[in-house]
Parts: sequence; C-alpha cells; structure tokens
Amino acid sequence: MAKLFIEDLPIKGKKVLMRVDFNVPLDNNLNISDATRIFAALPSIKYVVEKGGALILMSHLGRPKGEPSPELSLAPCAKMLSHILKLDVKMAPDCTGSKTEELAEKLQPGEILMLENLRFHRAEEYPNEDPSFAKKLADLGDFYVDDAFGSAHRSHSSIFYVPKLMPGKAAAGYLMEKEIRFLSLALFNPKRPFYAIIGGAKISTKLGVIRSLLQKVDGLLIGGGMAYTFLKAQGIAIGQSLCEDDQIAVAKQILEDCKKRNIPFILPIDFRIANECSDDAENKIIDVEQGIPDGYQGLDIGPKTIQLFQEKLKDAQTILWNGPLGVYEFNNFALGTAAIAQFIGNSQAISIVGGGDSIAAINDAGVADKISHLSTGGGATLEFIEYGTLPGIEALSDN
Ligand code: AMP
Repeated sequence: MAKLFIEDLPIKGKKVLMRVDFNVPLDNNLNISDATRIFAALPSIKYVVEKGGALILMSHLGRPKGEPSPELSLAPCAKMLSHILKLDVKMAPDCTGSKTEELAEKLQPGEILMLENLRFHRAEEYPNEDPSFAKKLADLGDFYVDDAFGSAHRSHSSIFYVPKLMPGKAAAGYLMEKEIRFLSLALFNPKRPFYAIIGGAKISTKLGVIRSLLQKVDGLLIGGGMAYTFLKAQGIAIGQSLCEDDQIAVAKQILEDCKKRNIPFILPIDFRIANECSDDAENKIIDVEQGIPDGYQGLDIGPKTIQLFQEKLKDAQTILWNGPLGVYEFNNFALGTAAIAQFIGNSQAISIVGGGDSIAAINDAGVADKISHLSTGGGATLEFIEYGTLPGIEALSDN
C-alpha cells in the first residue's frame, strides 16, 4: 500500500490516537443494539494493546449538532469494549480539555482511553471554524491510526486535519487497509471479466459511481428503482414506477455512450409489478415488451432477469455489487435481491459487496462468509468507487 500501515509504526511505549467508527445504533435505554462496528475495529485495537501502545480512541456517534448531548455519549461503547476485551476502558469527559489531556498523559502502555463524542464540538464537522480543535486532538498522540473507513469520505477534523498535523506518523488500521486493498483491486487491477451490479432507489445518488464503473467494467447490470429511469429513457412504459424525470437526459447519454463503446449495459427484461408497494398488494410478472400498465409500479426484477443476470455473471472473475434490486424490505419484492445474493455467494469470483441493504441480503442468504469482501463503507464505498480515493486516505502519511 502506498500509505503507512499500522504494522509500520513503532508502537511500543507510544500513545496511539485511533479514529474508529463507533457510530452504533442505540435503543431507548441507550444499549447498543448492534455492535458490528465495534467488532470491526478489534483487530487494530488489539494490535496496539498487544504491542504495548497506550491507545486513545476517538469516534463520532449520531448527530449531536456541535454540542454535548448526554444520550449520544460514547460511554456505552467504552463499556461494551471493556466487556469484549475484559480490560478496563477509561472514559474521558470530553475529547479535548485539561481533564482529557491529563487522562491521556497518564495513560500507560496496554491501557485504553475512549474520548467523548467528537461531534460534541462543531469544529469536528466544520474544521475551518476552529483549526485549534484538530491541533488539540493531534497533540494527544504520538501516532495516528485511521480505522474508520465508513467516515473516510468526510473532510472532518479527526479524519483529515489530525493526520495532516502528524506527518510521517499517520497510518491505516486493519479495517481501513482491507477496504482499500479490495476496492482498489476491483477498480485498478480487476481479474476479468469484471461485472458490477448497481441497484437502489435513484440514479441521481449513484450517477458518479455508474460513470466511473463504466470506465472499468466489462459489463454493468442495473436493477432496483433506478432501472426505470433508464427504461423510460428508451421509451418503455413504466407506469407509476420510481422515476427521476430530471435524469432522463443523463440516462439517455449513458445508454448512448455504452452503445458507442460496446459496453454491455444490462437492464431488467421483466419485472414484478403491483398497484401498491405492500406485501398485501396483488403482484404479477410482466415482460419489458409489454411495458408496465398505468397504475402499476415495478418493484422487483422478474425471473427472466434473474436468469439473465446469472448468465452474465457466470464467467465473472470479479463481481462488485451495491444496492438492492427491488424493494427488498417487502417479502414479495425481495426475491430478485435474494437470488442474486445467493448466486454471488456461490460464485468463484472475487466478490465485493457494499451498502447496508445488499449486505443485509447477503446475511439473510447465509453466504456472508463466502463473500471476499463486505465493504462497511456506505457513502465512503460509493465515493471510493467514484473517485478512486477518499480524503481520509489522502491525509494518511505516504509509505
Ligand atoms: P439506495 O439507498 O439508493 O441503495 O436504495 C435502497 C432503496 O431502494 C431500498 O430501500 C429499496 O426499497 C429501494 N428500491 C429498490 N428497488 C426499488 C424499486 N423498484 N422501486 C422503489 N424503490 C426501490
């Protein structure tokens, strides 16, 4: 990797300031309802502790609007981490200030200090309003490690400015390194044929991703709500299906471009339609030639499309998937997404799956352990695909 890696740092006896993504869901009693993000950071956390570093963890949680809000304290995360590691994780009263500085100063090798929610300070999200905030954070550690891939697309103080203030000392953690390695492999050096499947609600949110992928893939498969704007752009009747009329011109341009460059741009050839988006609504399958009648909306890909997609993916050596292929929240419209999840899980290709919905489908299909890489990033994954890098990666020290 072109950037410094956690294993490159001489950690013993040093203070390591680590940005993690502990933005976990909390229930009404402030209990953590899903600790996946804490578990994801464990390899880097354990590494620092085992190497004899004093570890200072920092994260955001929720959207506290730049001021302290007790219900968004990171204390439950510190407690959970203590429980997992069977180690006392100290909780700082804030992420800056004299008390926090004192706790950090006294921290011994093998000990962990969790800073309070970074977003209790406006300067976390608006670094220009107070550059001294990043400086105060940077002063807490000898080294910086970023393991918060899910936040790496944001130029926030703890993600971009703190590592910039620690030149030669800012490294990627294990989670970050794995994300960069797999996404880079797909984008810059894929085993071919390389196919990408893009689903989800809207074209507008994934336009950059689609354009970027078209420079790299051997074929692009489109499902989900965004397919209907492409279909309408070809003059196909789509009934009341989700459509972004202001994106039709762009959709036409993409279709023409693919035709000119001979890139397979594969749209659904049949759909599961219903007159309303509910499991109670009667649904039926309709072919693209028939068009979707008025009063109906396309809510999933149909069986012929599933077959077509599987046929195209059969010889793929690399598969990248982001976004559900139907309204998978409803059982009746989850079949396409589930079938493709199952197929990718059983494929021999290098498989990279991103986005909460697609990962949920992979988990539901019971094939999570067969996927080469489940990307934790959400927006960060999409921006990495679009730009090939992220602010949080750029800010790390070169190797
Ligand atoms: P995104 O966040 O862009 O990946 O979009 C995910 C959302 O797209 C999910 O909530 C799906 O229910 C929705 N979606 C997928 N297919 C369709 C469709 N055919 N019509 C409407 N919404 C859809």
